Amino acid sequence: MDLVLRIVALVVAFVLAALSASASEREAGAKLKVVATIPDLADIVREVGGERVEVSSIAKGKENLHNVIARPSHLVALSKADALAQVGLSMEMGFIPGLLEGCGNPQVRPGGKGFINASDGWQPIQVPAVLSRQGGDLHPQGNPHMNIDPRAGRHFATRVAEGLIALAPEWKAEFETRRDAYFARLEKAEKRWAQFAGEWRGKKLVVYHQEYNYLADVYGLAIVANLEVKPGIQPTPNHLAQVIETMKREQCAVIATALWSKNDFVARVAEATEAKVVELPNMCGGIPGTETWIGMMELVHERLAAAFGTTTPPKQ
Ligand SMILES: [Zn+2]
Repeated sequence: MDLVLRIVALVVAFVLAALSASASEREAGAKLKVVATIPDLADIVREVGGERVEVSSIAKGKENLHNVIARPSHLVALSKADALAQVGLSMEMGFIPGLLEGCGNPQVRPGGKGFINASDGWQPIQVPAVLSRQGGDLHPQGNPHMNIDPRAGRHFATRVAEGLIALAPEWKAEFETRRDAYFARLEKAEKRWAQFAGEWRGKKLVVYHQEYNYLADVYGLAIVANLEVKPGIQPTPNHLAQVIETMKREQCAVIATALWSKNDFVARVAEATEAKVVELPNMCGGIPGTETWIGMMELVHERLAAAFGTTTPPKQ
């Protein structure tokens, strides 16, 4: 745990002592307090949990997911939580281990009954041959950005429903009904997204960070290069020159960025290649209109269609 967080944990320990032990006991009829690491999961916990849950999210949507700052308020929320919902695949490795160590609430730690790891059962892509953080690799367990996969809503809702049911079996039927209603809405959205993607197979793009690889795999898009040398490693002049050469050779005319891309590098490559730059959401809440996971994915599709010059199906 880094020093700042250690100090914060000490301060919070005093606060918690003052609050007494009653915080961890759920009274009959009280809502389940769920802390989600990202707003995408918070949205889906709300969808499945409805009135039975009270949800907050650690990341609000504009942060660099690999560099979320742990705050005292996060420790307090986790200390009182019935559950923590995280993506996993090391996405939260920069802030969750320290918070879990400092929050004094074993229930929300791995192995606790309130720990929901939403990527359980998911097949990650880009898994390195050797598990290692050597060289600053931010994706040691494969690509963690599964929240931008069009199939992720369904996967997350399944894991969240299981987690909530394990915590409050008395509300099982209610959670299952809400989950199934969400599945029905997802099915409608997925059909619409498939209409966008009908024209996308083989379309080429360059991406700043490796956030959109699941989406590319599902739709047959070709990511011909990344501006980062590797996840978390800023572009070097040499690497940028290679990216420009690749884009020209591949006739790639689109660069996808997210809120925390380094846009001076992007501008340089766009100028040299005359490519269009499209800013895509990479988690809920960062860009207006992306408060819900379905809304965020809708915007990803709309913006990509505009960048590729392909059809945007009319809204029903
Ligand atoms: Zn990443």
